[in-house]
Amino acid sequence: MDDVIVIGAGPAGSTAARLLARQGFQVRVLEQSQFPRTKPCGGAITSRALPLLPPEFSGQVRSAPTQWTFRGRKGSRTVTTASPYCYTVERRSFDLWLAEQAQEAGAAVSFQQKVVSLSFDNAVYTAATQSGERFQARWLIGADGAKGVTSRLVGIPRARNGAAVETEIAVSSQHFAQWQDRVEIDVTRYPWGYAWVIPKGGALNIGVGSFKAGKLPPLKDLMAAYLHQVLPDYSAPFDILAHPLPYRTRYAPLAADHALLIGDAAGLMDSFSAEGIYSALYSAHVAAESVGLALTGKTHGVLGYAGAIHERFWTQLKPAVKMSRLFYPLAGFWADWFVGHTDLLEEYLQVTQGLSSYDVLLRKTESALARQLHLRPLAR
Ligand SMILES: Cc1cc2nc3c(=O)[nH]c(=O)nc-3n(C[C@H](O)[C@H](O)[C@H](O)COP(=O)(O)OP(=O)(O)OC[C@H]3O[C@@H](n4cnc5c(N)ncnc54)[C@H](O)[C@@H]3O)c2cc1C
Repeated sequence: MDDVIVIGAGPAGSTAARLLARQGFQVRVLEQSQFPRTKPCGGAITSRALPLLPPEFSGQVRSAPTQWTFRGRKGSRTVTTASPYCYTVERRSFDLWLAEQAQEAGAAVSFQQKVVSLSFDNAVYTAATQSGERFQARWLIGADGAKGVTSRLVGIPRARNGAAVETEIAVSSQHFAQWQDRVEIDVTRYPWGYAWVIPKGGALNIGVGSFKAGKLPPLKDLMAAYLHQVLPDYSAPFDILAHPLPYRTRYAPLAADHALLIGDAAGLMDSFSAEGIYSALYSAHVAAESVGLALTGKTHGVLGYAGAIHERFWTQLKPAVKMSRLFYPLAGFWADWFVGHTDLLEEYLQVTQGLSSYDVLLRKTESALARQLHLRPLAR
């Protein structure tokens, strides 16, 4: 019997496994795919996530943008940071590398093991996989992403789902030179969402996502239209990958018995930016700390994790929920505003670098809106 079973070897699962194995615990990761596998994702990791990654991360970086273009109806505005505010990766190689890091730390990673059922008897979890094998451990970490089974099987309410579609297009080195330092966001494409271009060493990741996406066809059509705006001469066929964006607007305890959820499985995505890798890594660190303390008898792990996420992470996500409510219904207004004012864009880039917080951004956004509402009648 292992100490911990981790379901899913995405950034959340492999990170939790690596940290727990490094503490000396016996960890088993069950992953349904064979790696490397494709995960629909822009692969932009904000620089605030750097301390949560192994030091050799630089080998995974494809681009390190310092420019951010915000496009609206009346034009665009580009802001520049002194150092990269994000680093872009290929998820196929990044996720494989993180899984290898977990193996090197001592975790056993079993690929092509899709978990189909779970039981909890006498303080032991048993995970049964599609191949007919059974694995047992005292603790269970659900890191099986937006389409995973753990939340349902352990009875933790699922998050809400938006949706996003993306594709990746290799471009000439001349063309790439125009994009290599720059991410572009366009908020005029879909309600409660945005379109993006993210550079990745010779290729452009282009996508559209929305927190309130209903059916996928309109998202796919809009993505194709955006792609042709970004690359007018591009005529070759391209694959479109779609995936849910799981997020919460209210805190929910993400643990039950000796099981807890992290990353997308927990619905911990930032509901303003749709950034999920930082959340996956952050919650994995909290989970490894809490389960480690529980396994050594120092605390009650479930309560430790639920409490720590509430105190340390929900305090970051809650103002992002408020930002989202303040921003997306008025996206057209903000898009026009940003063409003339860069202070809020700059503040957001400070947040991505861990140099400011959503609380500060929210306060500044509220006062910009109040000033604007107040000044309009006077200006007439
Ligand atoms: C189109 C798109 C673009 C995005 N762009 C960005 C971006 O640029 N930056 C950013 O920060 N975030 C982005 N995100 C979000 C980001 O991709 C996710 O938040 C992140 O992958 C979450 O990591 P995770 O480890 O929790 O889950 P995942 O990466 O989804 O990993 C879950 C793993 O669990 C496995 N699994 C699932 N079910 C089972 C099972 N039953 N048994 C065993 N294994 C199972 C899966 O195969 C998978 O490997 C984007 C999302 C989408 C959809």
